[in-house]
Amino acid sequence: MSKARSAETVKVVVRCRPMNEKERAAKYERVVSVDVKLGQIIVRNPRDVSNSDVPKVFTFDSVYDWNSKQIDLYDETFRPLVDSVLLGFNGTIFAYGQTGTGKTYTMEGVRNDPERRGVIPNSFEHIFTQISRTQNQQYLVRASYLEIYQEEIRDLLSKDQSRRLELRERTDIGVYVKDLLSFVTKSVKELERVMIVGNQNRSVGATNMNEHGSRSHAIFVITVECSELGLGGESHIRMGKLNLVDLAGSERQTKTGAQGERLKEATKINLSLSALGNVISALVDGRSSHIPYRDSKLTRLLQDSLGGNARTVMVANIGPASYNVEETLTTLRYANRAK
Ligand code: ADP
Ligand code: MG
Repeated sequence: MSKARSAETVKVVVRCRPMNEKERAAKYERVVSVDVKLGQIIVRNPRDVSNSDVPKVFTFDSVYDWNSKQIDLYDETFRPLVDSVLLGFNGTIFAYGQTGTGKTYTMEGVRNDPERRGVIPNSFEHIFTQISRTQNQQYLVRASYLEIYQEEIRDLLSKDQSRRLELRERTDIGVYVKDLLSFVTKSVKELERVMIVGNQNRSVGATNMNEHGSRSHAIFVITVECSELGLGGESHIRMGKLNLVDLAGSERQTKTGAQGERLKEATKINLSLSALGNVISALVDGRSSHIPYRDSKLTRLLQDSLGGNARTVMVANIGPASYNVEETLTTLRYANRAK
């Protein structure tokens, strides 16, 4: 795969959220600037005393500032990927970043507010609108929803939330999650129902929802199967898969003085995020003959949707305030490596 080719299949964008109430009240300095035209994020690092007035500049495929609208991200960045899924290709959208920077806002947003709906509900609408416009084709849409927590897989749609699922591999279909439920959905409403049930289960068994959410990867999977009658009456089937991934928080949890179970947990999160970074940068590099999919459950599970004909969009989320500058720089470096 040449660099030019991979550049089309892996896209990295950065989104900076607005200052929140607390940050405004505390009058934190904004250290992030966004140049939408040039695709640049500029960070002033007030804590870097050695060369404090040299701003750091990062360039990406697209950048979005605190005024960015959900629909603009969708139309410019996500829609082409979802279109390719409707044509039978696989695609994956990741939200990456420190906890509190807008990953869940980008993926789910505010479901009951059309303006603030995130990519997941927007893709539901897109998929069924597209299907309603086609003739001579039969579509089958299915949804699954799972979570990876501490390298363990849980089916968020299952009645039994204590059960852990295994990854399996078959020569014909590749890597799959054994016994993962998948529901046929015939409308936007039905897809929404699946998302709501999964979200409710996500908080079951979590002592602290916020913490749990920030330590696990949530993956919403939509499979679109299309059968079309050819001119000679023969039918063609094509299948595309859309993976919508709200990643665990990228904050360096091993540095927060975690011990025992917490430290083990933190190490696993850091490992799976760095495994993902390694896979994406190997794909983008294009010269690597070995893509290290096997290094984490996340990358193994998504193997057929990363690389090859599949498209990937990584949204790196950052905050604007000075007290987050170290994590912001860490996120930008990670994202920079992935492009
Ligand atoms: P994360 O999932 O990364 O932990 P959230 O998506 O929960 O972060 O965002 C943290 C808070 O910031 C939420 O209250 C969310 O509504 C708000 N927020 C995040 N991004 C934006 C944005 N682009 N515009 C407005 N509010 C945002
Ligand atoms: Mg979140």
